[in-house]
Amino acid sequence: TQPPSKPPLTIRLCEPRGFCAGVDRAIQIVVLALKKYGAPVYVRHEIVHNRYVVEGLQTLGAVFIEELSEIPPEHRECPVVFSAHGVPKSVPADARARELFFLDATCPLVSKVHKQAMRHQRLGRHVVLVGHAGHPEVIGTMGQLPDGAATLIETEADVAAFSPEDSEALGFVTQTTLSVDDTAGIIRALKARFPAIQAPAAESICYATTNRQDAVKETAAGADLFLVVGAPNSSNSRRLVEVAERAGARRSHLVQRAADIPWDDTRGISVLGLSAGASAPEIIVNEIIEAFRGRFDVTVELAVTATETEEFPVMRTLRDVALTRA
Ligand code: SF4
Repeated sequence: TQPPSKPPLTIRLCEPRGFCAGVDRAIQIVVLALKKYGAPVYVRHEIVHNRYVVEGLQTLGAVFIEELSEIPPEHRECPVVFSAHGVPKSVPADARARELFFLDATCPLVSKVHKQAMRHQRLGRHVVLVGHAGHPEVIGTMGQLPDGAATLIETEADVAAFSPEDSEALGFVTQTTLSVDDTAGIIRALKARFPAIQAPAAESICYATTNRQDAVKETAAGADLFLVVGAPNSSNSRRLVEVAERAGARRSHLVQRAADIPWDDTRGISVLGLSAGASAPEIIVNEIIEAFRGRFDVTVELAVTATETEEFPVMRTLRDVALTRA
């Protein structure tokens, strides 16, 4: 007898998806530091918000810490890497005071937002940071400025409740990984309430966030289910789940590994949308497609909405090992 035939399934695979240039650079910095200086290499905070990546680096000899005080004195010579999300100014200052050797893997596009925030402040403006409370990037951007120099705004309701000392001297920046549409609404509300507010010199939401959201918008309409590969603490991944639902996917979920696929929601589906956040490796996207092949007769349709060519070089100290990379 013939085995029962599998139901057909079209997977619309978003392109661009997954790793961005900032995440790729941060991972390279840890790998190259291990190669150049040997283990252990300390990493302050998850280098990028992905457990698979973190565990892979741990097996190579990276040691993840939350605070610099966790580095034992006898390991003061070992490098410590700061994560792609950026750090408050107090962190490199603390590292210098402890005479640590640090490598800052802050994404250049996050550093750009830091500079824009500092510029507003230098020009006498109170800084409005649009972002999510508690996210390491927000902590890092706030930490570029003296206490009281910035106010965090998360929603349009926060705009309504905000009463600055001088509404004529305001400047805003945003977190790099926000929802493009929600942020546009918050900025409209800020400009309506405070017409004199100054924008940053360039858009703070980064190219990778924008491109991944655009790709999801294009592919989600008519999808019976949309899956985004990413971690629950990854801001840009969570935004993709919301974008998929708003753009017309019937259901949308975040999955970290194939084991998280909500199989109950796959009954009767014929179109699946699939994307991955900026910190999610391609190997997990493939794992998910393979898991679907086990239960469906899968056709993968690549939905290309942009081509990315961005690459951020690692710092000079590591370029000699970068050149000899296999
Ligand atoms: Fe940089 Fe954007 Fe990637 Fe964040 S998501 S690391 S800002 S490129």
